[in-house]
Amino acid sequence: MAERLPQYIDGAFVQSTTTEWLPVRNPATQEILCEVPVATDEEMAQAVASAKAAFASWKEVAVPERSRLMLRYQALLKERHDEIATVLAQETGKTFEDAKGDVWRGIEVVEQAANIAPLLMGETVENVARRIDSYSLRQPLGVFGGITPFNFPAMIPLWMFPMAIACGNTFILKPSERDPMTPNLLAKLFEEAGAPKGVLQVIHGTAKQVNFLCDHPDIKGVSFVGSVPVGQHVYRRAAENLKRVQCMAGAKNHMVIMPDAPKDQVISNIIGASCGAAGQRCMAISVAVFVGEAAEWIPEVRDAMAALKPGAWDDPEAAYGPVITPQARDRIHGLIQRGVDAGATLLLDGSDCTVPGFPDGNWIGPTLFSDVTPEMDIYKEEIFGPVLCAMTVDTLDDAIRLINENPYGNGTSIFTSSGGAARKYQHEIDVGQVGINVPIPVPLPFFSFTGWGGSFYGDQHAYGKDAPRFYTEIKTITARWFDDTPVTGGPNMSIALK
Ligand code: NAD
Repeated sequence: MAERLPQYIDGAFVQSTTTEWLPVRNPATQEILCEVPVATDEEMAQAVASAKAAFASWKEVAVPERSRLMLRYQALLKERHDEIATVLAQETGKTFEDAKGDVWRGIEVVEQAANIAPLLMGETVENVARRIDSYSLRQPLGVFGGITPFNFPAMIPLWMFPMAIACGNTFILKPSERDPMTPNLLAKLFEEAGAPKGVLQVIHGTAKQVNFLCDHPDIKGVSFVGSVPVGQHVYRRAAENLKRVQCMAGAKNHMVIMPDAPKDQVISNIIGASCGAAGQRCMAISVAVFVGEAAEWIPEVRDAMAALKPGAWDDPEAAYGPVITPQARDRIHGLIQRGVDAGATLLLDGSDCTVPGFPDGNWIGPTLFSDVTPEMDIYKEEIFGPVLCAMTVDTLDDAIRLINENPYGNGTSIFTSSGGAARKYQHEIDVGQVGINVPIPVPLPFFSFTGWGGSFYGDQHAYGKDAPRFYTEIKTITARWFDDTPVTGGPNMSIALK
């Protein structure tokens, strides 16, 4: 029987008493790596009670001490980088190098959490009235819940709990049921780094467990990353329960290619950005918008894409791995067919992809459509596979109009040699993260991850300066200290400070 994954509740890795277990499979082989529990109501209630109790003492721990926990954690994550990436690669299907990148981008957020003090600083104004000073403090709220997707099982949990906990909160993580081994390992290492009991809890499950986090009155806020429909559901449900909530959701990211861009750079960058991680990145480029004569490069993009070979997680030659499940593969097949039916030209078809030695993998070969129009499903839906839609327009204004009419707004990029075109694009485009000759502009953690439009619900974004705002409440103090000056003029009956 496959190993059964424990949950991390009240400072211990414990076996669930549930009767419901879900298989976690290697997407290249379908081998069952472990079974993940669907948490019971009692286990979830226990996690909340423990996190609530831990908050009472954790919020009193000095800020530098909280930072030191993050420093130790950062060191351990770096030391065990390969081990985490090995687990991650097997359960996601990512290549080992890409899996290391997933861990690394999370480590960078832990580094930011280790430097939390400046981000928690309030403001002071002396003499807001005669001998009265005002100042503000940032204080933690209590227990936060985090819900994460399958496609970054290290980076996205690490976007959340280190920042929340460094701010003085406690945290309950509900990772994706598809790849829960990596988050469990992250929790194990957090414990090894010295995290006190109850500060972090990991419960497993699916929709019911997510709804529990959105509903429970002792959970003060919810961070979510995942698809648009689930993101909208979580946003509505948590807000309906009067919680603070941030939902990072799905995307359709465009790359604009100007005719003055260096062609070789364009081709090399577009391929990695569309097919890397089998296209299963929320910042993957799924639409290439060729402006004017740049359209002549489409055949060369096709040839370069055709040379990409997917393969298993431990194949150093593999360009990317399988998609996460057979259902995801079948959905992508369906979308490719819908593209053909709608009249798009299928320049490269990855539907019948096989990888020698891995007959059961969820493979999709690199796929390229041209003649794509905005009404087509392949343009409107997030495909989340190694499928690129090429579109052509006459001018940069046309490209901007097209992209601004798309409801998503996670990321975009422009490739050009013109500073003027780049400046116009960054100013006029209604997308929250813009790359100039950088295909996937995921910000480093001293900035925030600033998706817009249909890719984000909430107002404070992940990590950067927004995270401490999301994970704290601001308190404003107005203070006066008396001396021996006698009271004159009678009581102040006005609201104005004197
Ligand atoms: P998903 O929405 O299916 O799952 C996300 C989480 O929600 C999981 O923990 C899952 O267990 C839970 N969930 C699933 N169905 C639910 C339901 N009906 N009710 C309540 N909870 C439910 O997403 P996924 O397939 O794991 O991840 C891929 C998606 O995440 C893509 O759309 C991608 O663009 C998006 N994503 C966005 C960002 C971002 O920062 N904007 C980053 C990574 C991934």
